[in-house]
Amino acid sequence: MIKEELYLPDVIFNSILEITPEYLASQGIKGVLCDTDNTLAYDNRKEIIPEAAEWVKMMDEAGIKVCIMSNAYWVRNYPVVKALGIKYYQTRCHKPRQIYYEKLTKRMGLKHGEVCMLGDQMKTDIVGANRADILSIYLMPYAFETNPFYKNIFKKRRAIERKYLKMYNELHGTQFDFPPQIKAEMREEDLKECVF
Ligand SMILES: [Mg+2]
Repeated sequence: MIKEELYLPDVIFNSILEITPEYLASQGIKGVLCDTDNTLAYDNRKEIIPEAAEWVKMMDEAGIKVCIMSNAYWVRNYPVVKALGIKYYQTRCHKPRQIYYEKLTKRMGLKHGEVCMLGDQMKTDIVGANRADILSIYLMPYAFETNPFYKNIFKKRRAIERKYLKMYNELHGTQFDFPPQIKAEMREEDLKECVF
């Protein structure tokens, strides 16, 4: 299957805890390729998101493998891998490039179609998963990026993503939108340009 719109996720969740083992099993998923920043840990911080820690434990108990697939360096991922006891991980993945999708699937002992991607960025996590033709799960970001270097980049990225949230809502009859803490950091003109 060729996915026509690469930015458009297959499915969206507001909270990581909504992604249950039952839901994943219903999609034939046995392993999750997982982003780090704003998915498992707060962006630019070492602290794990409490919900994410609970979710990793839930996956572990259900026998669903979790593999960190991060574009960040090892030094950023190390505290997260350690705190969560993550067994599978790969840093500097260059998502959406296709270098690691197959390799990580094999490393987990799984087959194509048995893994999905979970992340908070359409440009990297969702586009990469769609190109790899695996289930793409978009998770609402927890907080706006705090790293001063990335802040302006993300003002544009979140504006683009919001247009795809609107497109997703129109296709699926849903009402997904960024939480107030994200919209508070976005530019007024970008919010006005995309009215739900
Ligand atoms: Mg992220």
